[in-house]
Amino acid sequence: MIVDYHMHLRGRANGREGPVELTVEAVERFAAQAGERGVDEIAFTEHMYYFRQAEPFLSHPYHRGRVGHDLDDYCAAVLEAKSQALPVKLGLEVEWLPGREGELEEVLRPYPWDFLLGSVHLLDGKAVDMESESGLWDRLPVEDVWRRYFAELAALARSGLADVLAHPDLVKIFGRRPAAEEVESHHAGAAAAFAETGVAVEVSTAGLRKPVRELYPDLEFLRLCCEGGVGATLASDAHVAQDVGRDFEAGLDHLRSAGYETVTVFDGRAGRQETLG
Ligand SMILES: [Zn+2]
Ligand SMILES: [Zn+2]
Repeated sequence: MIVDYHMHLRGRANGREGPVELTVEAVERFAAQAGERGVDEIAFTEHMYYFRQAEPFLSHPYHRGRVGHDLDDYCAAVLEAKSQALPVKLGLEVEWLPGREGELEEVLRPYPWDFLLGSVHLLDGKAVDMESESGLWDRLPVEDVWRRYFAELAALARSGLADVLAHPDLVKIFGRRPAAEEVESHHAGAAAAFAETGVAVEVSTAGLRKPVRELYPDLEFLRLCCEGGVGATLASDAHVAQDVGRDFEAGLDHLRSAGYETVTVFDGRAGRQETLG
């Protein structure tokens, strides 16, 4: 079984990222690309900040500038494709907003998610993956950014809000890292937190397209997750249909090198193990 469990439903725009397109036709384009790349099942995990239902939770200007779609339209497009027997799953990429997980859980509860993908993008309201964010990378030592990132990631894992953690070491995106022993201790702490909670981790090939040019997460980190019995998914984080299943040979190698022989497959927020590959 090969899954691509992280992508964003966008229209066409000359090979570049188009606008959000909540139609069965858009779903079909992503599913067709999956078929060509030998991916058995795909999941849509649109960012929650595109939907008006999430507006009360949004503070970052990048997020506030994107809100306006309806979560019901998104779910309807994916569910209709599912009813036509396309191998698609309904998910959502959910922001970790410390202290607001209860309210957020209530807003998301009525929808028939196959799984929720949790992400830490913001630290004190600043985006860890935007280099221009003053007050984060500009003013804080790299050690502090990493410490805060991993503290929030563990809190997200423990919250029960998400079934899978997206790009688990996103904080390495610009290639800035503290000393090796500090990195190792963050990895060990996070892997232990995941093992305690039953959350799965995502192996993402998107990091290969980012300044760091590496898969998420680091192999040693993934090995610790595997040793702790933490489930894993595979993902491209595609924002255009052409990126579905991209670099999956590297992703599959990474999973196997870390010790994984199965992938976690979700239905109705329940995970099960299927043979990888
Ligand atoms: Zn993300
Ligand atoms: Zn994403």
